[in-house]
Amino acid sequence: MFGETDHSEPFDINDDRLREECGVFGVLGHEDASALTALGLHALQHRGQEAAGIVTFDRDQFRSERHLGLVGDHFSKAETIQRLSGRAAVGHVRYSTTGETILRNVQPLFAELEGGGIAVCHNGNFTNAMSLRQQLIRDGAICQSTSDSEVVLQLIARSRETKIVDRFIDALTQMEGAYALVALTSKKLIGARDPLGIRPLVLGDLNGTPILASETCALDIIGAKFVREVENGEVVVCSGSGVESFFPFGKVKARPCIFEYIYFSRPDSIVGGRSVYDVRRKMGSALAQESHVPADVIVPVPDSGVPAAIGYSQESGVPFELGIIRNHYVGRTFIEPTQSIRTLGVKLKHSANRPIIEGKRVILIDDSLVRGTTSLKIVQMIRDAGATEVHFRLASPPIRYSDYYGIDTPSREKLLAAKYNMEEMRAYIGADTLSFLSVDGIYRAMGYDGRDNDAPQFTDHCFTGDYPTALTDLSEDRDFVAQPRLVEVS
Ligand code: SF4
Repeated sequence: MFGETDHSEPFDINDDRLREECGVFGVLGHEDASALTALGLHALQHRGQEAAGIVTFDRDQFRSERHLGLVGDHFSKAETIQRLSGRAAVGHVRYSTTGETILRNVQPLFAELEGGGIAVCHNGNFTNAMSLRQQLIRDGAICQSTSDSEVVLQLIARSRETKIVDRFIDALTQMEGAYALVALTSKKLIGARDPLGIRPLVLGDLNGTPILASETCALDIIGAKFVREVENGEVVVCSGSGVESFFPFGKVKARPCIFEYIYFSRPDSIVGGRSVYDVRRKMGSALAQESHVPADVIVPVPDSGVPAAIGYSQESGVPFELGIIRNHYVGRTFIEPTQSIRTLGVKLKHSANRPIIEGKRVILIDDSLVRGTTSLKIVQMIRDAGATEVHFRLASPPIRYSDYYGIDTPSREKLLAAKYNMEEMRAYIGADTLSFLSVDGIYRAMGYDGRDNDAPQFTDHCFTGDYPTALTDLSEDRDFVAQPRLVEVS
């Protein structure tokens, strides 16, 4: 039914995960603006590893550095930070879902407008960007990138409003989907969250200097104080006269992305007033309440499965042990001269801790299951280490629907839970038993009695199929003719 699986293929436990798209950071009024931004982006690296960029404003000039690769590869050098002079900066780490991984898609995106320049950084995905882009091109717009984020810049440029903040808001009122945005002009640092607050954004303070960031971990790294969350549907404007707040969309009930708690946000971040680490532990405890089986040891799939496994162990009373050891120094994959060496390569990144596993009934805990391609290799690795039973438990519900709000999810037909029922999935990964935390279980872990189906407390459509906004670009009558693209050859 499932066809042969080549267990000799080296694998990375992080191969089969949803990928968060992007982190944003901004600072206004500090002499080390670019260094603080580089540190903030470093703390947000888990939100995007493909590219990073920083734009500063220094007296009368904007300065930009954008690179493919990790923050540390490009922004750790003193001369780079010195080139990025100025007391204000915005920065971005990228993981592409819309637009290729090419330099012209690396953010911040910048435009010189009447009245001055503006640099924009976007986390999320606009679900009507392609439709708007097509209209803009028809009206003569010249797009510099293939990213959905550029549409905001184009609409700001076209706005008939006079003040930059009004032009920014005018553009946002035409956008659909999910976004956390930070923008920099010569005098202002602007932050905005979509009307439902799907993607996170927080406001911090560093000795009177306002900071905007995707997560609190980026405030912690620079010693900034957490002031508050930027609310859903809020536009905050930081300038020399303080922080102003606007709600141009009218107040609607927030529906933040629940996956930020499951996997995307760093465990040491506080999201929506909750410790991410604590929520994951509670998800593990709820999982044990729902689907525990007799066992000898609880083993997390590192690293993101660890907090849930601790919660599961505390709830079930079964000891928690590091049964899978991760090699943190893999770097470039080894050249394997022969098949037999290749087979060994499978243990390059992760290996089973045999003394912990051998002769034991093992419960493996992971945060989520997407295609199942990695889970079946993990089960095999634990069996090869001598486990008598292998039970697989996921601290989130089955992922049955694709995401269009800034998360790189495989198309629906590649999602294991969209293809198979529970028994078929169990057989596919080769576990003795398989179980997922229920949707209500995950809401209980968040402190509710369950999901409020009339007014859900979170965005959770990868589990429920309940998409919280219109998806204009996906609607039937849309046909986007692929335009010939400029390919950067240098
Ligand atoms: S589908 Fe919804 S809940 Fe899932 S990751 Fe995307 S925004 Fe979050």
